[in-house]
Amino acid sequence: MSASRAERLQEQVTERGLDALLVTELVNLRWLTGFTGSNGAAIVGPGRRIFLTDFRYLTQAADEVGDAWEHRIIPDLLAAAAEEFASAAGLRLGFDDLHVTVAQHRRLAEKLEDRVELVGAGGVIEGLRAVKDPEEIDRIRAAAELADDAFREVVLEGGIVGRTERDVALDLEVAMRRRGAEGVSFPPIIAAGAHGALPHASPRDVPIPADTLVVVDWGAQLDGYASDCTRTVATGELDPQDAEVYALVLRAQETALAAIQAGPTGREIDAIARTIIDDAGHAEHFGHGLGHGVGLAVHEGPRLSKLGETALAAGNVVTVEPGVYLPGRIGVRIEDLVAVTADGADVLNGLPKALTRVA
Ligand code: ZN
Ligand code: ZN
Repeated sequence: MSASRAERLQEQVTERGLDALLVTELVNLRWLTGFTGSNGAAIVGPGRRIFLTDFRYLTQAADEVGDAWEHRIIPDLLAAAAEEFASAAGLRLGFDDLHVTVAQHRRLAEKLEDRVELVGAGGVIEGLRAVKDPEEIDRIRAAAELADDAFREVVLEGGIVGRTERDVALDLEVAMRRRGAEGVSFPPIIAAGAHGALPHASPRDVPIPADTLVVVDWGAQLDGYASDCTRTVATGELDPQDAEVYALVLRAQETALAAIQAGPTGREIDAIARTIIDDAGHAEHFGHGLGHGVGLAVHEGPRLSKLGETALAAGNVVTVEPGVYLPGRIGVRIEDLVAVTADGADVLNGLPKALTRVA
């Protein structure tokens, strides 16, 4: 599998007029080589498949990174990368300008002297990562299902009224870990009542009251892959106005979800949900994009937002998560994680979206 990824990357490297690409960002490196350690790099070019790491990862690299790669075990990765081009002249070496620091770039440039031109090539691997293979989609689905199970146990069956947001968040985290997750894909958001009007609310040491809405946004990291889901639940009777907001967000979510397939841009899908929310008079209450890609990272390409110019492709895995946030009152967000197919979307999580009352 890694070999074919390296081949796909090689095509991009050639297309960009580069002689080689230096890969240093760890998530990109994991995607490319399978390496899960904390210090490594790779060089990809015609006839070049070089993997670099330090002595601590000798055995791990042998296990995780296949024979398609030439392994170099060396303490100083940048110096070793430069060494690969010691006899090169007039060569164009791409590097990840989205992640390489200014200091690293300076060191590399000094070592490469004028023989090798460093060319910014950030986003090349991210573009490839956005299209998942079936095995990756299975892993994301497994992470999503694990997260669903934790939610059923902690929120739906366990009940949340009278418990603090922090306590529920911690329980969700533990429930995911106990089911085999490596960790959370991001710290869970549990936000009751007016606190739910903050899209990125941190859980507080405040008991969750009855008769309000609670936003729960959580995800698991399993086998390297992330999941991301949001449900907004009612803790009893709701003010009719709040129930109406819930129904509006649900309609926006389901309508946008039904439009997902290979072809439209992220901006077009975003606009479908946004128009519904705008028409209901809540334009200023939906301030974030509709969704984002999910994979080895919980936020990656493509994006579903006003800035999403890329056409969706089969194999993209994206969230669909409209929200309406009424400051000082409530927030509602409903988020599904879906794999884009040629003619639709395969929803990877399985929790119901009809307004659910929890104790
Ligand atoms: Zn989320
Ligand atoms: Zn999300």
